[in-house]
Amino acid sequence: MAKRPRRRSDQTLVCGWCSREFLPATRGRTPKWCSQVCRQRAWEQRRAARSGLVAVEIVQQVVEVEKVVQKEVVKRVEVPVRPSRHNWPALLAELTSQLDRGLVYDRDLPELATHLSGVLQVLERRPGYQRLMARSRSPWRR
Ligand SMILES: [Zn+2]
Repeated sequence: MAKRPRRRSDQTLVCGWCSREFLPATRGRTPKWCSQVCRQRAWEQRRAARSGLVAVEIVQQVVEVEKVVQKEVVKRVEVPVRPSRHNWPALLAELTSQLDRGLVYDRDLPELATHLSGVLQVLERRPGYQRLMARSRSPWRR
């Protein structure tokens, strides 16, 4: 069962027996009576009503409650992603384009050149790469 929400603390209720206003506790069941005495009197009257002796006035009260609303906040966070084999051609093409359009600072060029020559060195060492390049260069394949 859901927890009963806290009532706003500044609101008064009207006693179902004596009609006086009273401040209820913020927690628990919404009280119908201002006191134990009124509660007892009302109970006696209800008992009498059940036996057909008196009429009972049923009062419905409106109570405002404080409801805790949990708010979900969606935040966009950029996460560096390690590029995979599918991304490299487009990334390198983008690098080429940015270099060509002068979008890369001169001071960053030496470091880029170092890494690019490293890429080429590693490529040359790969047997698979050598095989593919040899095949595409061989004249009898065309
Ligand atoms: Zn009362």
